[in-house]
Amino acid sequence: MPTKSEPSVDAGGLRQTLQEAFDSGRTAEADWRRQQLKGLIRLVEENEKQLIDAMVADLGKPRFDAWLTDLLTTRDEARHALRHLDDWMRPRRHPVPVVTFPSTAWTETQPIGVTLIIAPWNYPVQLLLSPLVGALAAGCCALLKPSELAPATAAVVAELVPRYIDPEAVKVIEGGVDVTTALLEQQWDHILFTGSTRVGQVVMEAASRHLTPVTLELGGKSPTVVAADADLKVAAKRIAWAKYLNAGQTCIAPDYVLVERSVQDDFTDRLVDELTRLRDKAEPTSIVNANHVRRLEGLLDGHGGEELLPRKTDHASRTMAPVIVREPDPASPLMQEEIFGPLLPVLGVDSVDDAIAFVRARPRPLALYLFSSSSETERRVLDRTIAGSVCVNHLVYQVAAPSLPFGGVGPSGMGAYHGKAGFDAFSHTKSVMRRPTRGDVPFMYPPFPPVVQKVMRLLTRWPLR
Ligand code: NAD
Repeated sequence: MPTKSEPSVDAGGLRQTLQEAFDSGRTAEADWRRQQLKGLIRLVEENEKQLIDAMVADLGKPRFDAWLTDLLTTRDEARHALRHLDDWMRPRRHPVPVVTFPSTAWTETQPIGVTLIIAPWNYPVQLLLSPLVGALAAGCCALLKPSELAPATAAVVAELVPRYIDPEAVKVIEGGVDVTTALLEQQWDHILFTGSTRVGQVVMEAASRHLTPVTLELGGKSPTVVAADADLKVAAKRIAWAKYLNAGQTCIAPDYVLVERSVQDDFTDRLVDELTRLRDKAEPTSIVNANHVRRLEGLLDGHGGEELLPRKTDHASRTMAPVIVREPDPASPLMQEEIFGPLLPVLGVDSVDDAIAFVRARPRPLALYLFSSSSETERRVLDRTIAGSVCVNHLVYQVAAPSLPFGGVGPSGMGAYHGKAGFDAFSHTKSVMRRPTRGDVPFMYPPFPPVVQKVMRLLTRWPLR
């Protein structure tokens, strides 16, 4: 029996089993990769009900939301990889400079090895299995660690994965901090972690002990800028939807809104209407647990602003009605911490340039949203702000395009995945040069005759390809 201080996981044993599968060489074969990706697609398609039931049990997600945001995204990610796999795996020729003549050069990819994928609870299928798509496409073995805060989903995924995917090459281990800590003591060839910035630091510190490369998909406060020339009706509707989705428990949810003061009242009135409509008519998602309900209630204390919708929490179902907070104190916890819940601060700014300055003065966000009808404003915001991704005139949908790399920058993350970026994250790109042994002329070795030196200097003036 493991004691309280001993995790109930044989991390070294698991690592070793995966290593043996990797060393067999089969996972590098294109055919194996294709079979696994097809298996993953079938896993999602054939178990839709079971997976959605689990997400409803864990998070009270509306069933269609669970299908759209967890199952469809995962399936499309796998379908995209399957379609492009041959191209991604193809070696690529590279031009060579005259100094290496005669030679050919190319890059080719190899699976990075045995990898660890750690997921959060908020999109518990997508954020565990979409990274796996990249690992499988790249030919890697993977240990999947779902979040202990979505235990029903973790259990279903742990049961399904070995039925559809090579069970020696991909394993799921359920558990909390003690399990993850034990896993992080092992040496992995790559770690992809999705979760909070705080735990991202823990993961990177552990990885640094083995110089293990990491992809960190973290969180933060994603701003939404509403310019005076925006279509305010559409902006209000879309911002309200993106905040209401999953009760704001979305890493790329609009965390707060900066709206030009000339349209602030008009915009805020519309936002109140839209959130009221959603609150009254659309099914809510629950807050993941009572601790997070308390955390969110705490954020509402002492923000110094005006609340535009009434607070309403049902503790039994852990549902919270959305609250708009007008002009909170930028120094308050509401404006300092990632909200990750259905609270939406709205602050007026004098101009889009002021909004840009506000964003630039804060940690680089995972996502940034802009509502404007001006292409100059769009260009200025794109050029002057640094964010993981941007969506103009909508929110969240940038994550649904498998061909767009998804990742943060600075404190919101490191590296990216989705589509080819996921394949690259789990691949090593190896450079190879080949030179013939024929025509091995002696004047290409020291001591170089003066005439050779002169010719070389002349030839190397030619522009490089
Ligand atoms: P979290 O960081 O608390 O947990 C994530 C994972 O880390 C879980 O599997 C958990 O078991 C493990 N973990 C927790 N504490 C640990 C510790 N001390 N040592 C080792 N492992 C530990 O995050 P969460 O609460 O599950 O998710 C919410 C956060 O994730 C938010 O900050 C959100 O923005 C972020 N997030 C980011 C993305 C993205 O794609 N960038 C997506 C979803 C969520």
